[in-house]
Amino acid sequence: MKPLFDLGVLPIRHRTSRGFKPHVSLVFNAEKRLTFAVDTTNSRSQQPDAYLITHAHSDHHGKSAMLSANAVCSQETARALEILYGKEYAGRTFKTGETIDICGVDVRTYPTHHTIGSCAFYWENDVGTKILVTGDVKDAKDLPKCDCLVTEANYGDPDDPRCHFKDDIGAFREALADSEDIAFGAYAFGKAQRAVKLIRESGYSGDIGMDPVSRALTEGLMEDTGSLVDLESDCGIRITTPGELPALSAAKKFILTGRRDYKIPTINISDHMDVNGLIGMVHHCAPTAVITYHPGGHRPLKLAAHLNKTGYYARALEEINTVIEI
Ligand SMILES: [Zn+2]
Repeated sequence: MKPLFDLGVLPIRHRTSRGFKPHVSLVFNAEKRLTFAVDTTNSRSQQPDAYLITHAHSDHHGKSAMLSANAVCSQETARALEILYGKEYAGRTFKTGETIDICGVDVRTYPTHHTIGSCAFYWENDVGTKILVTGDVKDAKDLPKCDCLVTEANYGDPDDPRCHFKDDIGAFREALADSEDIAFGAYAFGKAQRAVKLIRESGYSGDIGMDPVSRALTEGLMEDTGSLVDLESDCGIRITTPGELPALSAAKKFILTGRRDYKIPTINISDHMDVNGLIGMVHHCAPTAVITYHPGGHRPLKLAAHLNKTGYYARALEEINTVIEI
């Protein structure tokens, strides 16, 4: 932990009787000692100074953190959480790109292009260390240089062929042109909105049928969606969740995903970067130290190991052994 010590950043994990709480908290000094919790659950016993919620996917735990007055997320993320969970967001919001004051610290925010409202947080501590927390990233082009990068590793294993891919927009356009009765499987938050955007960009201006949750999120979060209708309506293009797609009748069906474990044909449209994108992001941000904090499984370890081999100091969440029992 020496580089992190020198940088004045102490990553900690909290453990309860039921096991580790999700993700990581960062302790640092900025005139006073502060703790920012990253994509973790609301805690009754010990409140951090802020719950940073990078985006509204369930594995980043906004459902729980949104109930704290110390929650901080973009306006769109707060709206998405309210639509998804039917509860009122209790924290603070900002427009992505704004700088906000959290406990006297200027925190800058940057888009990560992963979902609507997804964003990265950036601030400096007392010793001038620039800390960047990204959440999941689709495109790192807007991210700044930093000294301590806290980032994801969803497709972070360089030795796994499944972590090497490119979006196949051509196949998506071809599928649209080939069929007048087509259905896509897409996760309700994130992928479904990406699909609507791609369909409209292809020039289709007719009705798009959507399942209720996908439609509520799309109408609640996107402008210029065109006409969205329910799945039972007479329309040539429909979008529902991958789980519901088999039950839907359509001449052609595809799941929009980078995964390769579905029986229905897939088109490679991902909300993520592949491993080359992740490594490129690290080069782009040029940090002294990297913490790979998400998702579960072995990929954060694999990406950290690769970065260590190529001259970075990197640790996966699992390797952080500063643990506080709560
Ligand atoms: Zn995500």
